[in-house]
Amino acid sequence: MQRSLSEKAYKEAVKYIPGGVNSPVRALKSVGAAPLFISRANGVTLTDVDGNEFIDFCLSWGVFILGHNHKKVNEAVKHAVDLGTSYGIPTLQETQLAKLLVESVPSLEKVRFVSSGTEAVMSAIRVARGFTKRNIIVKFDGCYHGHADHLLVSAGSGVAQLNASSSSGIPEDFTKYTLSLPFNDLESVKAVFEKHGDDIAAIIIEPVAANMGVIIPELSFLTELRTITKKYGALLIFDEVITGFRLSLGGAQERFGITPDLSTFGKIIGGGFPAAAFGGRNDIMAVLAPDGPVYQAGTLSGNPIAMASGIQTVQLLQQPGFYADLEAKSTLFIDGLKEIIKGKGIVLNHIGSMFTLFFSDHEIRNFEDVKNSDTERFARFFRALLNENVYISPSAYESNFISEAHTPEQLEKTLQTIKKVLAEI
Ligand SMILES: *Cc1c(COP(=O)(O)O)cnc(C)c1O
Repeated sequence: MQRSLSEKAYKEAVKYIPGGVNSPVRALKSVGAAPLFISRANGVTLTDVDGNEFIDFCLSWGVFILGHNHKKVNEAVKHAVDLGTSYGIPTLQETQLAKLLVESVPSLEKVRFVSSGTEAVMSAIRVARGFTKRNIIVKFDGCYHGHADHLLVSAGSGVAQLNASSSSGIPEDFTKYTLSLPFNDLESVKAVFEKHGDDIAAIIIEPVAANMGVIIPELSFLTELRTITKKYGALLIFDEVITGFRLSLGGAQERFGITPDLSTFGKIIGGGFPAAAFGGRNDIMAVLAPDGPVYQAGTLSGNPIAMASGIQTVQLLQQPGFYADLEAKSTLFIDGLKEIIKGKGIVLNHIGSMFTLFFSDHEIRNFEDVKNSDTERFARFFRALLNENVYISPSAYESNFISEAHTPEQLEKTLQTIKKVLAEI
């Protein structure tokens, strides 16, 4: 496969952009490949600058549940652009999308828009702290909640570790209120609440972990998080930036029947534009300025183009049968995949239209398990697929996504390609 124009583009990019990319995973370092430069995308077909085409299972990290370049979403966006692209003054569209979110997601009574998932989580945590007047945040190893200083913590094994920052450039003091515990490990949560319960503002969790590859929570784990936070007067925050409008219209919370106090959204709700949101109970969201003392703001928050894109996207997702069809299609693909990987030392974690293949002989239940999987073999797998024109998420620590736009032929072709590639690596 010719990739000389991508290589050239990369050489040029590194002159002006650190590492040549604006988000680190795009450099494809962990999979030992050179980054692709994309010139267009349609449906689930990505076209790079060399003219190669790939079937896309990353879909801008889960954004494009309807596929790239959706006709109706594009029309809504083009119409919006003609009306001016930002005012910094309220619009009807913000209320419209807010109402769509509140109607769709069980726990939402109020939402506020921001421009990225990082901001949504940062703000939700500030609200949780402002509401509870407590400091400590409990998170889980391997869960990603954006790149705010105090959330870039992934503790060592076992008991909660304070001050363990996973990025340089963050003073230890900034993470001293963040406790990171093993995913799916209820005992460590109980232990931490016994010790610090009255100082814990919130637990934040990806209700299905997707940023260490897909890891399914045990249902009892999630329900106990709800119980224990209630018991101690802490809040439960579901970071649904990936799972929101992915696992159902009401996200993971609807799928599992658990009501968090606050939730965050991103990715899908902007339909490819920078929009994200956080929201929850009325009494909690009331702490936000201008009604309350918790400050939060944004020049481009609720941007009219992003709102138009989000409104059209959510309306399409509300069509009867949308999720049932997506699930049925995904199940067919997953069943095919299960056959192919049998006896090959591969674990397939999946739920709905999300899946990850781990190169491991053991069940994958937490971050430790993921780290013990064979990431070298994953890298070979990724590169071999790429050479066969299939683009999966370029890291052993990510989820893949199936969209409305994947055709049965593309899915079947992908299965055959995976089969072929597994025999080679
Ligand atoms: C992507 C993601 C974020 C961060 O969103 P950005 O828009 O990249 O800032 C936060 N939480 C989860 C669960 C995510 O997947």
